[in-house]
Amino acid sequence: MKRLILLFFPLLFCLAAAHAIAEPLDVSAQHPNPVGKSLTYLQESGDRLSLDQAMAAYAGGRFHASSRAVPRFGITTQPVWLRLQVQNRTGKPAARRLSLERTWVDVVDFYVVREDRLVQHWHTGDNLPFSQRPLKTRYFAFDHAYAPGLTTLYIRAETAEAMVLPLYFSTSEQFYSREMGSAHWYGILYGGLVVLLVYNLVLFFNLRSTRYLFYSAYLLSFLFANLAYTGHAYQYLWPDHPGVQHWANPVLVIVFCLFGLAFATSFLDTRQRFPRLYKAIVAAGLLVSLLTVLSVILGVQGLAMKVAMAFLILFSLGMMFLGVLSWRAGVPSAKYFLAASITHTSAISLSVLIVLNALDWGDFGIHITEIAMLVDAVLLAFALADQFRILQNEKFLAEKLANIDHLTGIWNRRGFQQLVSPLWHTGLRNQHHMSVILMDLDQFKRVNDRHGHASGDQVLQQTASMLNSSARAGDVLARWGGEEFILFLPETGLSKATHIAERLRQSLIRMETGLTDLPLTASFGVAHVHARDIGMEELIRYADSYLYRAKEEGRNRVFFGEAGDTANMEAQMAT
Ligand code: GH3
Ligand code: MG
Ligand code: MG
Repeated sequence: MKRLILLFFPLLFCLAAAHAIAEPLDVSAQHPNPVGKSLTYLQESGDRLSLDQAMAAYAGGRFHASSRAVPRFGITTQPVWLRLQVQNRTGKPAARRLSLERTWVDVVDFYVVREDRLVQHWHTGDNLPFSQRPLKTRYFAFDHAYAPGLTTLYIRAETAEAMVLPLYFSTSEQFYSREMGSAHWYGILYGGLVVLLVYNLVLFFNLRSTRYLFYSAYLLSFLFANLAYTGHAYQYLWPDHPGVQHWANPVLVIVFCLFGLAFATSFLDTRQRFPRLYKAIVAAGLLVSLLTVLSVILGVQGLAMKVAMAFLILFSLGMMFLGVLSWRAGVPSAKYFLAASITHTSAISLSVLIVLNALDWGDFGIHITEIAMLVDAVLLAFALADQFRILQNEKFLAEKLANIDHLTGIWNRRGFQQLVSPLWHTGLRNQHHMSVILMDLDQFKRVNDRHGHASGDQVLQQTASMLNSSARAGDVLARWGGEEFILFLPETGLSKATHIAERLRQSLIRMETGLTDLPLTASFGVAHVHARDIGMEELIRYADSYLYRAKEEGRNRVFFGEAGDTANMEAQMAT
C-alpha cells in the first residue's frame, strides 16, 4: 500500500503542477479548433497590469492552465490575460494569424514576445472605430511571421459584456475558409429572415392588422441584434461609431424581446383574454425599458447587459407560459405559437447552459439560437397564416349568416340583392328575358290572431320550404319581408313566369297547414323585362304594383305585366 502511494505521488504532483503548464503550439500542425487548451490565463484583480507585470506574474506561477477550448469568465468581470507559446521548428519564418473570434471585446491587446522582449504590439477592440483594426474582419485578428524557435504571445482582453474568448491560430487561408463557411450560413439566415419580413410587411399593408407589423418588427429586431453580435453591423453598418457598437448588443436584445412580447400579446389577444397578465407584461416591459434608458444615460454597459440577459431568459419562459395558457384557453392557432416558443426557449436555455459551460458544444452553440429563430419564424408565419384562415372562415360564416333569414333559412333581402345583382347585369348585357315574382300571403294577420305567432311562424317556414322545392335550379328565392316572398327568374319570359306563379299559387292552396278554418292563399305580382336598361329595383317595383292590383282585385290571384307597361295590367289569372 505504501509503495502504491509512493508510486502515485509523483503522478499527483505532476497533476497539481500541471495547472500552469501548457504545451506550445506547433506551427506545422493544423489547429482547426480554438486553442484554449494551450493557454494559461490570469485575471486582473486590481489595477491594470503592464506587459512586464503580466510576464512577472507568469514567472511567479500566478497564471492558470485553461482546461477549456474556449475560456469563459462570465459577464462584467475583470480583464483577463492569456498566454500562449508558438514553436516553429521549420527553420524558416511561418506566417500565421491569431484571431480572437468574439466580436464584442471592448479592448484587446496582442503582444508578441521573443526572449522576454516585446517585438510587436497591436491595440484593438470594439471601443475603437472599425477602420483602426489591424485586419478588417469582424473579429480581432493579426498576422505575424513567426521566426524559428519559441515565440510567446500575451493577449489582454477587457469587456463589460460576456468574457468568452475563443482564440484561433491558423493560416489566413484557413481563417477565410472558416469565415466563408459562416458567411454561407448567415446568407441563409438573413435571406430567410428578410423574405419573412417582406412577406409580413406586405400582409400588414394589405390587411392593416397590427400583429403583422409587430411580427415584422420582431423579425427586424432579431436581424439587427444578430447583425450586431456577429460583428457584421460594426463592419458594414456603423464602422465609424464605436458609441453605437457599445450599446448595440444589450439594447437590440431588449428591443427584440419587447417586440416579441408586443407580437405575442396581440397575436394571442392577451389584453382581452388575460387583462391582469397583460398589465403585468406591460409593466415588465416598461421597467426594462426604463432600466435600459437609465444604463445608457449613466453609461453602465454591464448593467444593460445583465438586464438584457435576464430579460431574454424571462422573455423566453414568458412566451412559453403565454403559449400554454392561451392554448389551454382555446385561443385560435395557439398551438403553433406554443411550438415556436418551445423551440425558442429550448434554444435559449441551451445557449445559456453553453455560456455557463455546463455544455460544451463548441462553435455550434452560437448558431443554436439562430437556427431556432429561423424555425421559430417559420412556425409563427404558419401561426399567422392559420389565424388568417380562421378569421376568414369566421368572416365568411358571418357574411353568410347576415344574408340568411333566420326563421325560414332561405335568403333574406340582403342575400337576394347580392346574389341577383351579378345575374341581373349579365342578363342585361346579353339581353336575356328576366322575370320576378313577388308573393304576399293573404290575410296573414288572421293566422297570427287565431292561432298565435308560433303557428304563424310555422306556416311561414312551411311556405318557404314549399317555394324552395318548387323553384327551379338557378332561380333565386328570398323572404322579402314579413309574409312576402320574392323569386327571381333569370332567362325567363313573361308567360313562363306567370305560369310558374300560377303553379305556386295552386301549390300553396294544396299545402297541409293544419289550419282547417283558414285556407292559406297568396297574391302574386309578376313583372318581366327584356332588352331594356332598367335597374333590378325598378322591375321589383313593377312586380309590387301588380301584386297590389292582385290584392285589390280580391286576393288569391296572379297579376302580371311588362316593366314600364302600366297600361297593360288587364291580364289577370284568377280562380
Ligand atoms: P293582406 O292579405 O292584405 O296581405 O293581409 P295581411 O294580414 O297578410 O297583411 P298585413 O301586412 O296587414 O299583415 C302582415 C302580417 O304578417 C302582420 C304580421 O304579424 C305578420 N307577420 C310578419 N312577419 C311575421 C313573422 O315573422 N311571424 C309571424 N308569425 N307573423 C308575421
Ligand atoms: Mg299579407
Ligand atoms: Mg304584407
